[in-house]
Amino acid sequence: MNIHEYQAKAVLKEFGVPVSPGRAIFKAEEAEAAARELGGPLWVVKSQIHAGGRGKGKFKEKEAGEKGGVRLAKSVEEVGEFARQMLGRTLVTIQTGEAGKQVNRLYIEHGSDIEAEFYLSMLVDRATSRVAFVVSTEGGMDIEQVAHDSPEKIVTFTVDQASGIMPLHGRLVAGALGLKGDLAKQAERLVSNLYTAFMAKDMEMLEINPLIVTKDQRLHCLDAKVSFDGNALYRHPDIVSLRDTSEEDEKEIEASKYDLAYIALDGTIGCMVNGAGLAMATLDIIKLYGEEPANFLDVGGGASEEKVTAAFKIITADPNVRGILVNIFGGIMKCDVIARGVIAAVRTVGLQVPLVVRLEGTNVEEGKRIIRESGLNVIPADDLDDAAQKIVSAVRGGK
Ligand code: GDP
Ligand code: MG
Repeated sequence: MNIHEYQAKAVLKEFGVPVSPGRAIFKAEEAEAAARELGGPLWVVKSQIHAGGRGKGKFKEKEAGEKGGVRLAKSVEEVGEFARQMLGRTLVTIQTGEAGKQVNRLYIEHGSDIEAEFYLSMLVDRATSRVAFVVSTEGGMDIEQVAHDSPEKIVTFTVDQASGIMPLHGRLVAGALGLKGDLAKQAERLVSNLYTAFMAKDMEMLEINPLIVTKDQRLHCLDAKVSFDGNALYRHPDIVSLRDTSEEDEKEIEASKYDLAYIALDGTIGCMVNGAGLAMATLDIIKLYGEEPANFLDVGGGASEEKVTAAFKIITADPNVRGILVNIFGGIMKCDVIARGVIAAVRTVGLQVPLVVRLEGTNVEEGKRIIRESGLNVIPADDLDDAAQKIVSAVRGGK
């Protein structure tokens, strides 16, 4: 689960991480009061969307002005003007895709004087089963570009959770960033506090870009992007309450209500599969035969008829879907349950596009019989290859 920058900063602040004072606002009328409360002489007006690259982003509407999604303001009036220009407008960044994202919240922050910009991130490194730090002196810009052009400028290390974070890790970061004296001490404290926050809140990723040194020699987090492990959210109601569903795909929200693992994609073939591995294989084989999947959907091991119905409804609600492939290997999941779910769903939502069903495993004969006798126009398939070819041919007009 992702949260907004201002929320991430509030979480980090609880752990003693240095961030600027700021106010989140939802209406342009609130901007000037917030700026006055914070005090000048410099403010930053920041678009809050779940995507990075805001500074270099562009608004679609000309009323939003020429500047990007992060703007420096030198007066209270200017903060107000930027707020009126940005709120409700659509910001396009390298991470939003062409459609962009509507800016419904702004964060007004006390402006900092920057002497140096660095990069710092933390993530769960599956290869070592540890939390990894990634640091670079090349902050503020595209870290992917730095990794590509000058990998020697990126320093990484992992932390053994048995011994936890130690002064050594702080020194590694200070060394990588060329920080000495008091700044090195600040780096040690920062690294320790970030690690504590990361573990305590079950974060999956934390990115500070830029991490800055201010003109008055303080190490300070100017941007913060945090995502949390969905499987651990049950023990963090405070984090769950920060969820902004307006930033999420509607179909994904609906799917999460039924505990379905669903990810929207941009192709034309809707997929309903059980098991993540089989789902990945299904996406691959659709691509192999020259079409693109409309989604990844894993209905899970023990899905009920109700869950299958919900899954089917989510797939058919996607206007891009021109054909559906149901691919089930019945283990714990029974083929007859899937068959009943599919039929129940088709009866309620109708079937406007071709549907190929491939069933195998537990109760397969019963499942096939239910589909055959339903009288619905379902194209049966025997194996994965056959199923993929049939759905691809069906969306191409049956040839
Ligand atoms: P992003 O573009 O979505 O990553 O948004 P950031 O929060 O990283 O802001 C983009 C850029 O705006 C930063 O890299 C800084 O160069 C600049 N910026 C942000 N806050 C301040 C500030 O307080 N003072 C100054 N001078 N620049 C800032
Ligand atoms: Mg940034």
